[in-house]
Amino acid sequence: MIKGKDLKPQDMGKPHEQLTKLEKLMDLPAPYDKPGMEPSLTEPKDAWKEKFCASLDGYIGIDTLTRPTTKEEEEEQVEMFLSGLEKIFSDETNRNFIQPLLLSFEYCAKCNTCSEACHVFQASGQNELYRPIFRSEVLRRIARKHFKKGSGIVEKFIGADIDINWETIARLGELAYRCNLCRRCAQTCPLGLDNALLAREIRKIFSQEMGIAPRPLHEKGTVLQLKTGSSTGITKPALLDNIEFIEEDIEEKTGKKIKIPIDKKGADILLTHNAGEFMAWPENPAAFAILFEDAGLDWTLSSDLLGYDNVNYGIWYDDSQAKKIALQQFKVARDLGVKRIVLGECGHAHKAAAVSADRLFTGEDYIPKESFLPLLWDLIKNNKLKLDPSKNNFPVTMHDPCNVVRMMGIVQPQRDIIKAVSPQFREMTPHGVHNYCCGGGSGFAIMKSMNFSEFREKVSTRMKFKQILDAFQDTIEDPTIPKYVCAPCSNCKGAIRDILKFYKVTEKFNVHYGGLVELVVNALVDIEKPFLDFLRDD
Ligand code: SF4
Ligand code: SF4
Repeated sequence: MIKGKDLKPQDMGKPHEQLTKLEKLMDLPAPYDKPGMEPSLTEPKDAWKEKFCASLDGYIGIDTLTRPTTKEEEEEQVEMFLSGLEKIFSDETNRNFIQPLLLSFEYCAKCNTCSEACHVFQASGQNELYRPIFRSEVLRRIARKHFKKGSGIVEKFIGADIDINWETIARLGELAYRCNLCRRCAQTCPLGLDNALLAREIRKIFSQEMGIAPRPLHEKGTVLQLKTGSSTGITKPALLDNIEFIEEDIEEKTGKKIKIPIDKKGADILLTHNAGEFMAWPENPAAFAILFEDAGLDWTLSSDLLGYDNVNYGIWYDDSQAKKIALQQFKVARDLGVKRIVLGECGHAHKAAAVSADRLFTGEDYIPKESFLPLLWDLIKNNKLKLDPSKNNFPVTMHDPCNVVRMMGIVQPQRDIIKAVSPQFREMTPHGVHNYCCGGGSGFAIMKSMNFSEFREKVSTRMKFKQILDAFQDTIEDPTIPKYVCAPCSNCKGAIRDILKFYKVTEKFNVHYGGLVELVVNALVDIEKPFLDFLRDD
C-alpha cells in the first residue's frame, strides 16, 4: 500500500492488493472535533476484494465491475476499454463532447488551482488519489501509451509510462466514481479545463462500451425508468393513490381542500418532480400544490410516469440513456399541449432538462423548460402569497445545488425567497456559485453498494457537513433550538438526510432538513398549525 501523499498516476497499474487508504481526514468543527463523535473507518471484507475491484482505496462504487475469472476475460475487458477510448476521441462517435474533452485533455498546466477547489481532495486529507487531475493524468497516460506506441525512455518522455492491465482500467473506473461531477474545479481553472468531464467520459466508456455501471444508476435507474416510465418503478395506479394521499394529508395538516390537477390539457405549466419526492418526501409535492393553488396558477401534473418524473440519471454516466429519457419526457409534455415545463426541486433534472437537453432538441422536439425558483420568487414579490416569516423563527441555512447555481446561474431567487420567509437565515460559507457539492452529486446519493456509503459519509459529504456545522455554530450545542438545513434538490436532500443520520445530528442537536417550498408553506398566514413536522406537537 502506498501512502496517500506519495501516490503517482503510474502506480495505478502496480500489483498492490490495495493501492492506498484514507488516513487523516479533514478536521470537523465543534462538536464533532471531539474524540468518539464520528464513526471510525472500516476495512473492506475479503469476499468483496475477491469479487470486485477494491484495489483502489478499499471502496466499491461499481457493483457490476466484477473480477474476470480467466486471462481471456481480462484481456477482453481491457480491449473493450481501449476501443471505447478511441470512440471518445473521435469526432464521429463523440461529437457533442469532443471539443471540451480535447481542451481539458491537452492543455493542463498542472497549476493545481483545481485541487484547492475540490471538496473530495480536501476532505480526504489531501490524498493524491483524489486530486482532480490525478484521474485525468491516468487517462492521459493510458491514451498516450495506446495512441502513440513507444517504449522505455520514449514512453516516459511522452507521458505514457503506465501499465495498461485490468487492474489499471478497473481502478480508473472506480476512480471515476470518487468525483461528484460538481465542476467546482472547472469553475476555478484559469484555463477553463473540466476534470469532471474527463471523469464522466471514463464512466461513459465503462457504460456504453463495456456494459458496466453502478446498478442504482443503470439497472435500477435509467433501465427501470425506460421500462416502467418511472425511476422508482412505481405503477400508474400507485402514483394516483399517492396523489390522493397527498391531497388528504394537505387537508389534515392545513385544512385546505385541494384537488391536484392531473393531465389537464393545454395547461400553462406541467410541473415535474423527482419521483423520489413522492416516495420519501410527499410533503414537497404537497407544498408545491398548496403554493400553486394559492397563487391561482394554471398548472397540471402528468399521470404518465415519464411526465411526472423528471429524473434522468443518464447524464451522470451514459449519453444514449440520457437522450432516450429526455426525448420521452418532452413528448409527454407536447402531447398534453402544455406551454412549458416547470422543474421542481431536483438539481440534476434542472441540468438534464434545461441545459443538456436544450443542446439536443430543437424544432418540433423543443418545449420551454424552466426552474421553479424564478417563478416562486415572482409569486412572492408580487404578493400572490400571504406570508408571515415569524412562523419560521429558527436558524435556517441553505445548501445550493451545484446544477442550479453553477450549471444554470440561478443564485438570487432562492435567496430572495428564503429571506422573505426566514428571519434567522444565515448563509453557508462559501455559497452561491462557490458552494460545495452536498457529496451526493452524480449518483452518490443513491449508490449504497457494499461500503460505498462510508466513502460518501466520511469523505464526499464531509465538506458539506463542515459547512452545516459552521453555519449553526452559535446554536449547534443547544438541543432546545431547532435548526433547518434547506436543500432545494431531491438528491442533495437525500445526501443531507444521510449525513445527519450518520452523525446522529438530529437526535443530538435538533438539526432538521427539507426543501424550500415546505418552508414557504410553513410561513403562510392562513395555515394555523405548522406545516413542518418537527414543529408540530402531534
Ligand atoms: S486548474 Fe486547470 S490547468 Fe491548473 S491543474 Fe487544474 S485542470 Fe490543470
Ligand atoms: S468535479 Fe467536483 S468532485 Fe470532481 S474533481 Fe472537480 S471539484 Fe472534485
